[in-house]
Amino acid sequence: RISTVEKPSSNINVVVRVRPPNDKDSTTRQVVQVLDENCLVFDPKEDEGDFYVGGLKQLNRDMLKKRYKNMEFQFDKVFDQDSNNQEVFEGTTQNLISSLLDGFNCSVFVYGATGAGKTYTMLGNKETPGIAFLTMVELYKKMEEKSDHNFDLKISYLEVYNEMVKDLICPSGPLHLRDDGKDGTIISGIKTHRIESAEELFKMLEFGNRNRTQHPTDSNAESSRSHAVFQVHLCITHKLSVETKIAKLTMIDLAGSERGAATGGKGVRFSEGSNINKSLLALGNCVDALAEGHKHIPYRNSKLTRILKDSLGGNCKTVMIVNVAPSSIAYEETFNTLNYATRAKKI
Ligand code: ADP
Ligand code: MG
Repeated sequence: RISTVEKPSSNINVVVRVRPPNDKDSTTRQVVQVLDENCLVFDPKEDEGDFYVGGLKQLNRDMLKKRYKNMEFQFDKVFDQDSNNQEVFEGTTQNLISSLLDGFNCSVFVYGATGAGKTYTMLGNKETPGIAFLTMVELYKKMEEKSDHNFDLKISYLEVYNEMVKDLICPSGPLHLRDDGKDGTIISGIKTHRIESAEELFKMLEFGNRNRTQHPTDSNAESSRSHAVFQVHLCITHKLSVETKIAKLTMIDLAGSERGAATGGKGVRFSEGSNINKSLLALGNCVDALAEGHKHIPYRNSKLTRILKDSLGGNCKTVMIVNVAPSSIAYEETFNTLNYATRAKKI
């Protein structure tokens, strides 16, 4: 008898979240169908029933039918359009907190095309706060429970825009990156802030978000071409020891993954597009290299991957939350997004 093969435990989790349809989607076809909590079908075949002419079933009807991709995708978890931020939190970043408190770096991305629900998932709003807030609430709770340790917590919030790094809380000129001589990268001049509660954090992230570089584009007025990087720097000391551990949680609201060309931009906008692709491409290549077990991971190829150097791979835990829209308006973007996410899943 063959026993079931256990999936090797991996340090990257890839989940997909399908957002509910909005007004723009309502007249179009649904192209993402969630089958169960691990599986979805892209561009599902639609049952058109049998085709009869004069009471005879026609066999050649298939030749005339529209072809559907009808492609099945498996992920660690699939959240359908009825899921809320609390459920997404419980299925993703909640599981990182114990690793973080044990001293391991963790990272979380929201990936997807503009309008797919990245910011809603990461930041949310006052009524339905996103996973950044929910993670911090849980982190404070867990720190309190671990009363034999002292924790010193600071946060920073920056954006990578056009391959330039900018502090979102204390806006300044572009910040430079340099190697710290070990595994990480130092962001020169970034300000860190001590905060006491998740509520304080939410206000800070909202404030920071207003400093994000945004441009209206032809295809979407809310388009965001910057990567927003929120980091929690944690200093952990056992009360009966002098040894200190440092751990970092990085949460990233990535720029829209749609191709720069689709926005109809020219000139400056075109170079913005190519630079954003550079960071997303570099991230994809790092994830690929990790998935294939390469020794050399090309972190140096973009600002974003340099910042992530000590938080991706090795003992670090990573969650990638892939956001997709439900309707045929975003057909190409959704297909590309699901394929990108499938590469990451191999790790
Ligand atoms: P992105 O950041 O990927 O460009 P947004 O998070 O801004 O996309 O989402 C686009 C729109 O859809 C926003 O108006 C947002 O409030 C709404 N939206 C996204 N996801 C959900 C969801 N799960 N439930 C309800 N509304 C959502
Ligand atoms: Mg957004």
